Amino acid sequence: MQTAYELCRAIRSRQMTSEQAVTECLQNIRTLDSQVEAFLWVNEQGALAAARQVDKRIAGGEVVGPLAGLPIAVKDNICTNFGRTTCGSKILGNFESPYNAHVVDLLQQAGAVIVGKCNMDEFAMGSSTENSAFAKTRNPWDLGKVPGGSSGGSAAAVAARMVPVALGSDTGGSIRQPASFCGVTGIKPTYGRVSRFGLVAYGSSLDQIGPFATDARDAAMVLQAVAGHDLRDSTSVNEPAGDYLQELETLRLPLKVGIAAEYFGEGLDPQVKASVLQAIEVLKSKGAEIVEVHLPHLKYAVATYYIVATAEASSNLARYDGVHYGYRTKDPSDYIDMYCSSRQEGFGQEVKRRIMLGTFTLSSGYYDAYYLKALKVRSLIKQDFDTAFETCDVVVSPTAPGPAWSFGQMTNDPLAMYLADIYTISANLAGIPGISIPCGFSEAGLPIGMQLMGKHFAEGLLLQVAWAYQQATEWHKKQPQGISVTV
Ligand code: GLN
Repeated sequence: MQTAYELCRAIRSRQMTSEQAVTECLQNIRTLDSQVEAFLWVNEQGALAAARQVDKRIAGGEVVGPLAGLPIAVKDNICTNFGRTTCGSKILGNFESPYNAHVVDLLQQAGAVIVGKCNMDEFAMGSSTENSAFAKTRNPWDLGKVPGGSSGGSAAAVAARMVPVALGSDTGGSIRQPASFCGVTGIKPTYGRVSRFGLVAYGSSLDQIGPFATDARDAAMVLQAVAGHDLRDSTSVNEPAGDYLQELETLRLPLKVGIAAEYFGEGLDPQVKASVLQAIEVLKSKGAEIVEVHLPHLKYAVATYYIVATAEASSNLARYDGVHYGYRTKDPSDYIDMYCSSRQEGFGQEVKRRIMLGTFTLSSGYYDAYYLKALKVRSLIKQDFDTAFETCDVVVSPTAPGPAWSFGQMTNDPLAMYLADIYTISANLAGIPGISIPCGFSEAGLPIGMQLMGKHFAEGLLLQVAWAYQQATEWHKKQPQGISVTV
C-alpha cells in the first residue's frame, strides 16, 4: 500500500480513484481482520458512497480538501454520527452519537473517508487493548502478543496496512505505546492543540487526539487537518496550527537532543536500550548535538498519573447511570438498584477499579493526601521539562520499557501494567507533545519504538526530527510478513 501522502496525490491527480483506495482497504480488512480484530465496526457502504462522492467532485474539477479521498480509521471513543461509538464498553454497546467529534468534522471537510471504528481498552483504560468488552486485538507482528493500548485497534490497523492512517487518543501513552508495539508512527500533540469535542472523556486534563501513520510525513498531514481552535472545547488553544508538512522539509540546525539518565535506568529491556542508543547515533550523524538533561521527578510520574487520571475518570464516568446513555439493567427493584446494577453490569473490572481508586483519592480526608499532592507533583514534573528545554530542543527516550508482551501476561497484575507506562505518561502530565517512531526490532522480531518529546506546540519540530530520522533509516518501512504467531 502507498503512503497516505502518495495516495492523496494519486487521487487528486486522478491516477487512481478514492473508490479504488477504499475498496483496497475494505478488501484488506476482510482478509486480515478476522485474525487481527482491529475493527469494531467497518463502514463498508458509507465509506464507498463517500469515496464515490469525492471522486465525482475531483472529476468535476472542484477544489477538494487536502485529504480528499483518503481512507482513515478512528478509535471508537471518537464520536461519529454514523455507526456506533462504544468506547470498547458494554455500557455504551448500543450508543449512537447524534453528532460528530470536531476531528471527524474536520476530517470530512478535508475530504477523508472514514472506513471504520477501531477497538480499544474500555474507556481508554489500559495498555494492551485486553480491556475491551468486545474483541481481542492482536499484534500484526505476532498474533500471540498484544498490540499495546489503549488505541491498540488503530495501531494494529495501520501496522497491518488495513488503512494508511488512523486516529487514536492518548491520555497516558495510548497513541505512542501501541505505535511502538506495532512498529508505526504515532504522535500525541500538545494538550489543547486538537479539539476534544466529541472525544469521550477519560482524564480531561490529559486527553488528546492524534494520528497513527506509517511515517512522520503522513502523521504531519493528518495532524495538520485535525489541529486548530474549536469554540466547543474551551481547552483548545486559540492559535493557528503550524504548517507541519512544510516544516518537514529541512532539519533546522543546530538541534540539541536531550538525554536523561532517568529514561535509561532499571527495568529497561537491554534490546530496547541498544536500539534507542543506536537511533541517537543516527540523529548525531544528522547534525544533532547531544546534551545531558535531568528529570528528577520522573520517578513519581506513574503514581501521580494514576491519581490524577483515576480522579478525573471517576468524575467523568458518573454520567453512565443507566438513564442518560447506553446499557440499563433488566427489571431493577427500584431506582437505586437501577443505577447500581446498570453500572455493575455495564462496566468491566478495570474501569470499576479506576472509578473506585479515583473516588477514594477525591474523598474528604484523602483529597489533600492524594489528589492535591499529585497536582503539586504534576507541577514539579512540568517544571523538570521546562528546565530541560532551556538547554535542549527535544528529549529522546524509549517509548516503552520493552516490546509487546503476551496476552494475559499482565492482566493479573494491574500495577505491573501501570508501571509499563513509565516513559509516556509524563508528557501528558506536562501537557507537552510526544511522538513514537520505529527504531528497531527485538530478537523475537517485535518492533521497538523511540520517543521524542518537545516543548508545548513543538509538534512541527518533533515531526521534522522524526522525518529526518526516517530519511536515514528503514525501520518504518518494514511490514509484518504474513500474519504470524511465534508463541
Ligand atoms: N495506560 C494508561 C492508562 O491505562 C494510558 C491510557 C491512555 O493513554 N488512554 O490509563
